[in-house]
Amino acid sequence: MAFKTGRIISLMIVFVFLFRALSFAQETRKESNPIVRQGVIDLKALDENKDGKVFQDQMDWNVISDKPGKCPLCKMTLQEVPLEKAKENLINNGFKVKQ
Ligand SMILES: [Zn+2]
Repeated sequence: MAFKTGRIISLMIVFVFLFRALSFAQETRKESNPIVRQGVIDLKALDENKDGKVFQDQMDWNVISDKPGKCPLCKMTLQEVPLEKAKENLINNGFKVKQ
């Protein structure tokens, strides 16, 4: 009896572990999109072609790309803005920008 209970508990632990691992993987996939910027955002480094402009989502300010595209989070089309404007948007919305 004690042996069986032990087995059920260990199966439950395995199940919980798998469930956690799965939801963690999903979160990581969502956040690992390369144009969703995290932490201190270095706008000059993001402007790969050095034209002084980047494409920024007007809802998720930390979604910034040097190429036109859509936001992976809300599917809105990214808008082309000068680096200074992108920086202003980020700072006004509480994001950290490399000076
Ligand atoms: Zn968005």
